[in-house]
Amino acid sequence: MALVSAKEMLLKARDGGYGVAQININNLEWTKATLQVAQELQSPIILGVSEGAAKYMGGYRLVMAMVRELHDAMGMTVPVAVHLDHGTYEGAYKALEAGFTSIMFDGSHYSIEENVAKTKEIVEACHARGVSVEAEVGSIGGEEDGVIGAGELADPKECALIASLGVDLFAAGIGNIHGKYPANWKGLNFEVLAAVQEATNRVPLVLHGGTGIPSEMIQKAISLGVTKINVNTELQLVFAAAIRKYIEAGKDLEAKGFDPRKLLAPGVEAIKAIVREKLTMFGSVGKAN
Ligand SMILES: [Zn+2]
Repeated sequence: MALVSAKEMLLKARDGGYGVAQININNLEWTKATLQVAQELQSPIILGVSEGAAKYMGGYRLVMAMVRELHDAMGMTVPVAVHLDHGTYEGAYKALEAGFTSIMFDGSHYSIEENVAKTKEIVEACHARGVSVEAEVGSIGGEEDGVIGAGELADPKECALIASLGVDLFAAGIGNIHGKYPANWKGLNFEVLAAVQEATNRVPLVLHGGTGIPSEMIQKAISLGVTKINVNTELQLVFAAAIRKYIEAGKDLEAKGFDPRKLLAPGVEAIKAIVREKLTMFGSVGKAN
């Protein structure tokens, strides 16, 4: 199966009452590990790429070339989308040009008028190429690529306005936060989630900041219309912890333990374990067809 837009897989997930994971990738190891688990569990998957990660990997075109080649070499048969995460106006066009199959335009820092105008334009450009679009209203708490927002709850009226522009997926603050959750976190706000869902005519909802939200809360959010859950920080944490353990045990000093393919292997296994756990928790296992 070729790389696909996120639209069909998310409509199917919404109607089937399960969620699809967006796993943010940082390098070859991340990408390969995520694709392997998705294929093994016969689950649809969305590879998230932030602008910072794309820049790190050598640009949008390189990311697409890497994903396409891996996808073919691994004989992937499950639906895979490559999604720009928190794209700027310029970044959205560059990623579209490079062949991304799904684009998030994050205009949440513009005035609502400017967010509407730019989102509308990007929806037209993306839909002309069969690419899905995610929009965001209000900021989502925490920090992402240096952009900090306080914990916020979306305004359902603004959500209705942006959703009416034909976006395929929709991100709104419902008490979720990027990065680690503070000890005094109040949890997801299910009233706001329900209000947003109603105001947006059931456009598939996206939950950003999937790290550290208790599984019961995630599952309740899925039952109320959340269909895409973004996972990023947790993978970075387990990757680092597993490699730290390897080095602290002195394994890099034994035989050829310094070989990057050996050194990074525990991190890769740790990522795979979390991706398996998430796909199972979100209910997308076996939903590839
Ligand atoms: Zn996000």
